Amino acid sequence: MKEEKYSNKEKSSNKIQAKVILAKCSSAFSKSDNLFGMRIQKFGSDWKRTWAFKIDAERAHNEGYDKESTTGTFEPTAEYPGCPYCHSFNLAQCSCGKSFCYKTEGKIKTGEITLTCPWCGKSGTYTMVDRLDLQGGGY
Ligand SMILES: [Zn+2]
Ligand SMILES: [Zn+2]
Repeated sequence: MKEEKYSNKEKSSNKIQAKVILAKCSSAFSKSDNLFGMRIQKFGSDWKRTWAFKIDAERAHNEGYDKESTTGTFEPTAEYPGCPYCHSFNLAQCSCGKSFCYKTEGKIKTGEITLTCPWCGKSGTYTMVDRLDLQGGGY
């Protein structure tokens, strides 16, 4: 009986760790229909984006995607399809704590970019960072 328990524990520690982070698309045609979920999965000590899908606010709220924050590079994996609205792979985080996707024209030379957050409407200069500390959403 004891051994059985031990092996169960082993299995669960090897389980895939994944969760969903909410983001908004700053390039979507509609300002009210721009919400999407990003599935992130743990690879070693890092979190990477593996999938993205459209979601409405009500469902996002019911799923409770608004609990914890996660730190990682959030690099997209090969399967990651990009934003479901504009197909961008870019991801930014506003000072309000929310994440959003954005489109860039060509390369950003300075490492800085001016963006408007689709969550709180604030415009600001964003610096490219290696790691983000993302919150689940807060809907
Ligand atoms: Zn987008
Ligand atoms: Zn914001």
